[in-house]
Amino acid sequence: MTVERCSFCGREKKDTRMLISGISGFICDSCVEQAHAIVEEELREKSSFSLKETQLLKPPEIKKFLDQYVIGQEDAKKIISVAVYNHYKRLLQPTVADDVEIEKSNIVMVGETGTGKTLLARTIAKMLHVPFTIVDATVLTEAGYVGEDIESLLTRLLQAADYDVQAAEKGIVFIDELDKIARKSDNPSITRDVSGEGVQQGLLKLLEGSVVNVPPQGGRKHPEQKMIPVNTKNILFICGGAFDGIEKKIASRLNTQVVGYGASKYRDHVDKGYLLQYIAPQDLKAYGLIPEIIGRLPVLTFLEPLDREALRNILTEPKNAITKQYIKLFKMDGISLSFEEKALNYIVGKAIEFKLGARGLRSICEAIMTDIMFEAPGSDKKKIVITLKKAREKLDHISMRKLKVA
Ligand code: ADP
Repeated sequence: MTVERCSFCGREKKDTRMLISGISGFICDSCVEQAHAIVEEELREKSSFSLKETQLLKPPEIKKFLDQYVIGQEDAKKIISVAVYNHYKRLLQPTVADDVEIEKSNIVMVGETGTGKTLLARTIAKMLHVPFTIVDATVLTEAGYVGEDIESLLTRLLQAADYDVQAAEKGIVFIDELDKIARKSDNPSITRDVSGEGVQQGLLKLLEGSVVNVPPQGGRKHPEQKMIPVNTKNILFICGGAFDGIEKKIASRLNTQVVGYGASKYRDHVDKGYLLQYIAPQDLKAYGLIPEIIGRLPVLTFLEPLDREALRNILTEPKNAITKQYIKLFKMDGISLSFEEKALNYIVGKAIEFKLGARGLRSICEAIMTDIMFEAPGSDKKKIVITLKKAREKLDHISMRKLKVA
């Protein structure tokens, strides 16, 4: 009688815990496990989310990458480049038991809406090939209340990672409108602050790094779903918010600080026009964020309001600038499209006039281009130039109030 043995390692059945038979061979339990490990390793290597040392760009290179997409915002880009670099260096480090533990560099960006906060976070995620998700803090409420539980934030990340838990655990979550969960203690009619401090406490748990049971389908509609444990230790959280009115807190801090020696010198340096540039963690506290949250968001940066020149550049300079997108669309129909400088300046002027900011540029362009995009493909035109006259003509037909701000 022939002895049954593992076709991979050659061990006899009696030397294994289990021998599984196939059509023309056998495999033992330990070879199954080894094979499984090899498959996992291979898949991880091939995963579009895998992170390799060679892919890790240095801070100036990260900034250069951001420059391709984001106009201006030099300070924010620099600070974020360093934070992201350190974060991923920390991830790639082999786990050695020494006393120096590099802490996470979660980021807060403060700046008016439409100045590029989301764009910055999105661009970083694009560069790093990691799962990325955007969550609006306004929908989050304490568990048990109408709204979304904090864990839903990780559900989205898991979905972005195609349920690859390991990839999700190294992903980036962008929490927009962080200012909306500031404590509302100055409002006495709110007895329970379910969307303020309660959410901050919940968020703190995620920022600190803990294992959270995440409902893979999200929400409370599927109570039968099996929870997936996700460790948030290495997830990078980038928060953004307009923090309307925080200038007052900054101003009062600066005023109380500039007493005594050197005060007058300091006061001269304060640019009253844009106080946000002096933002410090204590201002976030004064605004209503709990100190523990602020402590877990060690990187604080601000975004500048976009001036005329920045808006003009946004129209043509970024890699996927709006005008480049139209040019590409028309090229597919064999039509060469161009924009006159005066027309571009007119678009910028309208965005400023109606306080639409960078978000408005797209809707203004869309309003100008709709008719042209409708007619051009059917005509025999091979060249279209958007002149000031044409831009003005098209916009005149449209009530500016109709311009949706995306
Ligand atoms: P925020 O998150 O600060 O409210 P977004 O990043 O969503 O603003 O910006 C809205 C849109 O405006 C972006 O999709 C982008 O097209 C444009 N935009 C805003 N700021 C910039 C910038 N600094 N550089 C290039 N485009 C920008």
